[in-house]
Amino acid sequence: MTETLDIQVTKTSNSKLPGIDFDNLAFGRTFSDHMFIADYKNGEWTDLRITPYQNLSISPANATLHYAQSIFEGLKAHKNEHGEIMIFRPEANAQRLRKSAERMCMPPVPEELFMEAIESLVLLDKDWIPNKPGTSLYIRPFQFADDPFIGVRPSETYKFMVLTGPVSGYYSEPVKVKIEKHFTRASKGGVGSAKTAGNYAASLYPARQAQAQGYHQLVWTDGKNHEFIEESGTMNIMFVINDTLITPPTSDSILPGITRESALILARDWGLNVEERPVRVDEVIEAIENGSLTEAFGIGTAATVSHIAVIGYEGTDYKLPAVENRTISNRILDSLTRIKLGQEEDRFGWIRKIG
Ligand SMILES: *Cc1c(COP(=O)(O)O)cnc(C)c1O
Repeated sequence: MTETLDIQVTKTSNSKLPGIDFDNLAFGRTFSDHMFIADYKNGEWTDLRITPYQNLSISPANATLHYAQSIFEGLKAHKNEHGEIMIFRPEANAQRLRKSAERMCMPPVPEELFMEAIESLVLLDKDWIPNKPGTSLYIRPFQFADDPFIGVRPSETYKFMVLTGPVSGYYSEPVKVKIEKHFTRASKGGVGSAKTAGNYAASLYPARQAQAQGYHQLVWTDGKNHEFIEESGTMNIMFVINDTLITPPTSDSILPGITRESALILARDWGLNVEERPVRVDEVIEAIENGSLTEAFGIGTAATVSHIAVIGYEGTDYKLPAVENRTISNRILDSLTRIKLGQEEDRFGWIRKIG
């Protein structure tokens, strides 16, 4: 690695690593020893540093706390069988963070800064990368407004930070989902295609309601008439109907998932029929009823593929075919997993090796 940016490193004198139970990793609760921080002020990113993982001190008037000018990314690092560290498509995350920043009126984090922050941090905490099947080091870059000011306007100061933490698989069991006909995650002209904090805040109450009704997750529909399928929880969604892989096109209400895009590239490369087009709720229900729908799944970094076992719609639970028979989603899951672990040739240049 050619270090061109100057990152000050302060190492911890008290690693938490010996106390970590790698057999019981709860998602999002365990963080590695260090974190990355950069400050944006006077129009530039300054004071790039890696410090021990620790609390921040912020003003009670911090603009993010009040108005949610805040964006994030999520990606994973694995080790291959030779112990080399591999990160899946980090440049795509860097680009998406920039797009999110633009929509949220925030200054972009240059790709070089994004990449060096991640690489330096992951390398320093490389012993935190777990290697049991299904596990990985989750990387969480994020950027937020830092002005101590409660007037409504774009902040003039920001922080860009990166945390990492070891995780096991996210969802393992196939999920029961409910097609949401009342609440909306994102609407035309809104911020649904930005990976921004408020989208998540808005999803909590509807998701909680669905959970109270016995579902794991919601399937979001369009904000206008709830006629078209958009996403599943915090993942993109795909169906196989009549042997064709179908997914809604990205739009300003659908997050452009990197796993989604990777799966489409693989499926087209395999010669499968692929359609990116609006998917009507009615079409999905009809296809379940007449047996032409054979697979439905969420797709995203956290779980890669999350099979949908049951779809609830207007009071009826529709049971989908057995997960073992789902050739396309299982092939996507298998292939993406193998590429990420360096067990399958990286034909599309998706793997960034570091160290
Ligand atoms: C992050 C995210 C996804 C998945 O994106 P990946 O890049 O595949 O992880 C899908 N939908 C929403 C709403 C998201 O926030």
